[in-house]
Amino acid sequence: MDYIERGYRRHFEGRPGTRPGVREAGALWLGVREDVARTAAVVFLNGEGVEASRGRWKVSPEVFGVVTRWAKPRGLCLLGVVHTHLHGVPARLSRADREHNVQVPGVLAVVIGEGGWDEDHTIWGWYVYENQDYRPILVGELKEKFDMSSGKVELLGANAEGMWEIAKDG
Ligand SMILES: [Zn+2]
Repeated sequence: MDYIERGYRRHFEGRPGTRPGVREAGALWLGVREDVARTAAVVFLNGEGVEASRGRWKVSPEVFGVVTRWAKPRGLCLLGVVHTHLHGVPARLSRADREHNVQVPGVLAVVIGEGGWDEDHTIWGWYVYENQDYRPILVGELKEKFDMSSGKVELLGANAEGMWEIAKDG
């Protein structure tokens, strides 16, 4: 997953004023909801409306509003909410994560360990929201739900005040 590689390294760890592994970080994956979903845009969230600290990552409804208003006219919807857990914290959804995450059927929640540096996506935490809760995605099921091949992916930033383009990739 090229966009994870390039995107996360730069935007999760390399932002000004952020020392590596000090706080959690996250992004939204946008795409077209099909039988097999594919990410068309990764939106990194930071700043106004994004609470990021050690052990906590929470996004305000205003931020989701900003991103939705951008995505809708482009035919994109929210596929997944991705966030990092720091070194020593399992890449699993915490209880607070479950409570704060968007609760929309079919949406993925993905947790990347080691502050986003964990390269092996097979050991990330993968969940899907179904029957009013997030359940782990089974091994083998992921391929059926999500196309991991890299392609053209737009990288953007967003917070409660707006969105900005980072790069067109691929
Ligand atoms: Zn978490």
